[in-house]
Amino acid sequence: MEEEDFDIREQRREGDKDFERALRPLAFDDFAGQEKIISNLRIFVKAALLRGEPLDHTLLHGPPGLGKTTLSNIVANEMGVGFKVTSGPVLDKPGDLAGILMSLEPHDVLFIDEIHRLHPVVEEYLYSAMEDYRIDILLDKGPGAKSVQLTLAPFTLVGATTRSGLLTAPLRARFGINCHLEYYGHDVLCGIIRRSARLLDVGISDDAALEIALRSRGTPRIANSLLRRLRDFATVVGNGRIDIDLAREALEALNIDQYGLDEIDNRILLTIIDKFRGGPVGLSTIATALGEDAGTIEEVYEPYLIKEGFIKRTPRGREVTHLAYTHLNRRHPDRQQSLFDD
Ligand code: ADP
Repeated sequence: MEEEDFDIREQRREGDKDFERALRPLAFDDFAGQEKIISNLRIFVKAALLRGEPLDHTLLHGPPGLGKTTLSNIVANEMGVGFKVTSGPVLDKPGDLAGILMSLEPHDVLFIDEIHRLHPVVEEYLYSAMEDYRIDILLDKGPGAKSVQLTLAPFTLVGATTRSGLLTAPLRARFGINCHLEYYGHDVLCGIIRRSARLLDVGISDDAALEIALRSRGTPRIANSLLRRLRDFATVVGNGRIDIDLAREALEALNIDQYGLDEIDNRILLTIIDKFRGGPVGLSTIATALGEDAGTIEEVYEPYLIKEGFIKRTPRGREVTHLAYTHLNRRHPDRQQSLFDD
């Protein structure tokens, strides 16, 4: 039974990946938003092509689902080179990395996701590969071991991270291009949703696309997965088209928060309200109360809560705003006080 559950979960994960792949833009022209990053990258790619060189090593950082993998794939396409993908935690030992590096063709893009999770030994190995396109390989073991130096094809490393604060200074210094991806505005998300609906061959009205955008936490991955769920509703309980009534009904049935906040967002807000009277309270205290890592809260969750005006950063710590109280149906302490006064 458990094995069956596991199979279903695996299949679902595979299905999610296929779905993401199908909707992934393949060229700069199809990539919506992040205008500044795109216009800079267009110039850097063009310059590299004119000089006949690989693109400089590039670091992409920002919260999950904002398009880091997509963008690195696009860079490879626009450079007209091969694209290889791996991730920090998968590269256990230098030998794993050496195998991948040696398989690269000139100017290929190697994408390392979650690069902040590279093993320190593997990371050190990467330094000479990035700087001089060379690696040292140890032949044999023990006293007779010999080290040989191998020359690699000049390549571009694109590193992606949700936690740029965890990157070591020497690794960070080896990236010539550094881009921070921001949350998407509702209009850009609307455009992404309409494009995905076209590719999925499902009709959607403009107001329904906006309704999804508003609840997508500024994140294309969430927008696309909500669209996928709504398509199911449209097929089964609707007439195949996503209009505003169907969108509202389905989002309600799926329990999607009006602002698109997820469970951890809401737990952060509730903790500050219920345990610390709305703050101000220090980040590490919030993290301990939640059993979460302070850095993850700071780099992955908090930026959206601050952007949408649920949390304020003050010199004495984090404080929730009136909006958080209203959203979570909690009474603001000032109002409680005035009730007592009455
Ligand atoms: P990350 O690597 O930052 O976690 P991904 O690149 O995997 O994010 O993006 C998740 C999904 O969101 C992809 O399937 C892609 O279709 C979609 N997506 C991300 N950014 C954009 C964008 N700017 N325009 C259109 N679709 C996007």
